[in-house]
Amino acid sequence: MFVSENLGVNEKNHLIIGKNDTVELAKKFGTPLYVMDEDLIRKNCRLYKNAMDKYYDGKGLVLYANKAFCSLYTCRIANEEGLGLDVVSGGEIYTAVKAGFPMEKVCFHGNNKTADELDLAIKSGVGHVVVDNIYELEMLDKIAAENGVVQKIMFRIKPGIDAHTHSFVQTGQIDSKFGVALENGEAFEIAEKASKLANVRMTGVHCHIGSQIFDIEPFCKAAEVMMEFIKELKDKLGIEIDELNLGGGYGIRYTENDDPIEYDKYIERISVIVKDAAKKYGVKLPFIIMEPGRSIVAPAGITLYTVGGRKEIKDVRTYVSVDGGMGDNPRYIMYESEYTAVIANRANEKPTETVTIAGKCCESGDILLKDAYMPKIEVGDTLAVLATGAYNYSMSSNYNRIARPAVVAVSGGSAKIVIKRETYEDLIRNDM
Ligand SMILES: *Cc1c(COP(=O)(O)O)cnc(C)c1O
Repeated sequence: MFVSENLGVNEKNHLIIGKNDTVELAKKFGTPLYVMDEDLIRKNCRLYKNAMDKYYDGKGLVLYANKAFCSLYTCRIANEEGLGLDVVSGGEIYTAVKAGFPMEKVCFHGNNKTADELDLAIKSGVGHVVVDNIYELEMLDKIAAENGVVQKIMFRIKPGIDAHTHSFVQTGQIDSKFGVALENGEAFEIAEKASKLANVRMTGVHCHIGSQIFDIEPFCKAAEVMMEFIKELKDKLGIEIDELNLGGGYGIRYTENDDPIEYDKYIERISVIVKDAAKKYGVKLPFIIMEPGRSIVAPAGITLYTVGGRKEIKDVRTYVSVDGGMGDNPRYIMYESEYTAVIANRANEKPTETVTIAGKCCESGDILLKDAYMPKIEVGDTLAVLATGAYNYSMSSNYNRIARPAVVAVSGGSAKIVIKRETYEDLIRNDM
């Protein structure tokens, strides 16, 4: 009935997440409130890990792409489940270190890493830096030398694959700010350059073709193209590549129209493609790295709001406003993303009207759901927006000086705060 498997309805007709009554959660912790189902996060981690063990003989590592939801809490869970981590900034490195993460299982990404960030990465013992461009390569070599280490690197390659998704989250095509392209020889050039530097060692190649992708074919094509590149590196430069990092980007169900790929089937397909290509090209079987973010945490999260005023504009539209919005979920204003919402205190009621659910920020684009077909929403209802576990908290802001909501993790029937609600005092903490 709901877009995520962990949701249901109890005898009070309240929405439940895991075994927790969402109306009770809203009462106890206040709204807006992010709720994360820890059991589902762990289940998703295991799904990937087990598939990698089963289909690729354990010769791979799944990294949780931290930017989907970065916190001490999520870093600890990824670690406990035996995953590595994909980080994209000094702040994410810092968070991982503070969470006690084994940093050799971390890949550091980004199209414009600063000297300070690279230095922090090296000093923290980050396993791989995924180098984006020549400028960064030279800077990293120098910083590695200053630290007296040889840093393992991969290159971010644009395999020239067009993934069918929103243009803001397409990253595998030549017109992208990320990485070096294959088709114009940039990728080969940077690999050649790296082979001559003393303080970096190229052990892997990486690609990430985009996000929220529902089609398995672009991923398969990317894997094939990357294996061809591995052969080219061996033939022309004598470099043997140990690791193939295929990125993330697997779509999830935000609405009933979304039909995600089965993640374990994908790993099965990719395993065959990589094994066959290694044999055909006479290159060694690479260790496979994958970086799912959204598909691990998004379905596990919901956001609870309290409904405020209704505005029925005759012959135009009905707006229903809630006590959060683009500050806690900027995905509509960024991508016009679609979501599903449920009235948590009347979860099974039949829809009867089309309404637009708006946030409370001073922007007309501050919308959570446009033209949603819903049961009649009343002032004081608890509204749950589903599948908000990824790119919500991590993209949140204090626009309009609205404090960020708390994050509560539920497991079994218990609930605990894992990130505190911000206070007004937090909002002025750095003001002089
Ligand atoms: C964003 C990103 C991911 C994760 O993407 P999801 O769509 O959340 O799975 C993985 N790798 C890289 C390099 C990324 O930029």
